[in-house]
Amino acid sequence: MPPTHYDVIIIGAGMSGLAAAIRLAYFDKHVLVLERHYAAGGLNSFYALGGYQFDVGLHAMTNYVPPGTRGAPLMKICRQLRLKPEDFALVPQYQSEIRFPGITLRFNNDFEFFIQEVIEHFPAQKDKFRRLVRCIQEYDELDLEAKPMSGRQIVSSFLTDPLLIDMLFCPLMIYGNAEERDMEFGQFVVMFKSIFCEGLARPREGVRRIINVLRRKVREVGGAVRMRCGVKALHVEGGRVRSVELDNGETLTADTILSSAGYVETLRLCDDGDAEQLAPLAGRLSFVEIISILDAPMGTLGHNTTIVFYNTEKDFHYEVPKDLVDPRSGVICCPDNFLYDKPLPKSVIRMTCLANFDGWSTLPEAEYMAAKAEWLPRIHREVLQFVPDFRDHIVFTDFFTPRTIKYWTGHLNGAVYGMPNKRKTGRTHLENLFICGNDQGFLGIVGATLSGISMANLHVLKK
Ligand SMILES: Cc1cc2nc3c(=O)[nH]c(=O)nc-3n(C[C@H](O)[C@H](O)[C@H](O)COP(=O)(O)OP(=O)(O)OC[C@H]3O[C@@H](n4cnc5c(N)ncnc54)[C@H](O)[C@@H]3O)c2cc1C
Repeated sequence: MPPTHYDVIIIGAGMSGLAAAIRLAYFDKHVLVLERHYAAGGLNSFYALGGYQFDVGLHAMTNYVPPGTRGAPLMKICRQLRLKPEDFALVPQYQSEIRFPGITLRFNNDFEFFIQEVIEHFPAQKDKFRRLVRCIQEYDELDLEAKPMSGRQIVSSFLTDPLLIDMLFCPLMIYGNAEERDMEFGQFVVMFKSIFCEGLARPREGVRRIINVLRRKVREVGGAVRMRCGVKALHVEGGRVRSVELDNGETLTADTILSSAGYVETLRLCDDGDAEQLAPLAGRLSFVEIISILDAPMGTLGHNTTIVFYNTEKDFHYEVPKDLVDPRSGVICCPDNFLYDKPLPKSVIRMTCLANFDGWSTLPEAEYMAAKAEWLPRIHREVLQFVPDFRDHIVFTDFFTPRTIKYWTGHLNGAVYGMPNKRKTGRTHLENLFICGNDQGFLGIVGATLSGISMANLHVLKK
């Protein structure tokens, strides 16, 4: 029997893969999503442990705008996938903070409020900041052919206060930068707009709401998803992928392959060359995340802030730490502190810090567990400078590392934001193999979803 043939095979049931599948199935493409794991969502999935439900990635969905806002990325997603904004049941944040020694900048989903905060704390930067904002608003971050430029260089050509520059880069880098120390200007613009100009929100049920909406839609429009069905190899002939070999030995064929596994990770599946030499291109920035279930909401301890982006030193360092973790900066997220109409059934606090993949992944099991036990109080010590002491309220804690991220997603080095040099056109050296998701250049839930849609449009539907 000849192998089953599809118009499009999509590798990965994360946000980008599911979105691409919906878009393609709408246009009657015979489409199949292949996912190695039993749960969908990839870098942003969910799991149960110790009788509690956890989200892997979700702190907040960026790009929140109220329903009806024209031209915003979230509305584009809804239009292209024929979903309603209400399907995601998004609840806006209360208020978040960027905290550096001796100074706090607050922001919420009203951009004018953030502008006033910057002006109040940095009056000498007022006009310079307004000019930077104008430049950001006029910049076309969707131009796939744009040349990469140093974000630090461009922002420093507008602003002269290094503290304000670091305070702006801190949340934008932690929430969406694959590059150490600097950030490509287009990516800076994407993140600035998605966090400050638009805003943060979260479904009450967490990320499973978003995944379930996308999975249901894939089914409704006739797309197929096969879970526990990894792609082992892409067999290449004449500059094209000729067949797709699965972990179970089965072979499939497709006119087009769209992969969300990562650029280097995808090329390593191809049997036409030595993709090992591409390994240095892979991203290296990864994180540890500590998620504690609490017996009381942080609000009852006097902390109503949704997310705190903190930095304990004068300068902000965004690079792979030499030690296992760099607790000097990070994120503290309280999922309770969104504007729900009734409290969450379980209170949670999430703490996220930069971490060293090589360090964590080479530890023998006993030392790996010991390292988690050692780092937990060290991270608490830093975090407790910014939130009330919640430790007596902890009922259960999970602690995941870059090793966990690599295991569950296949991303080299557990790189949460993929490779630094994005492949914005999605093209590879093979004429029918394209990438979508993190390595194409749009990050986060909204970014990855848009990436899946735009790569499906560009490389399949517009052909
Ligand atoms: C700790 C953490 C916190 C985060 N916080 C947020 C947040 O608050 N807000 C936000 O918007 N974003 C957040 N993100 C980032 C966001 O999750 C990602 O940018 C986005 O989900 C990437 O989606 P993707 O489709 O590009 O790739 P992925 O989610 O990586 O999906 C790729 C899929 O491909 C599968 N796969 C890989 N190789 C194969 C193979 N050979 N065969 C079959 N399947 C394969 C993987 O298993 C995976 O499911 C966070 C991520 C992490 C890890």
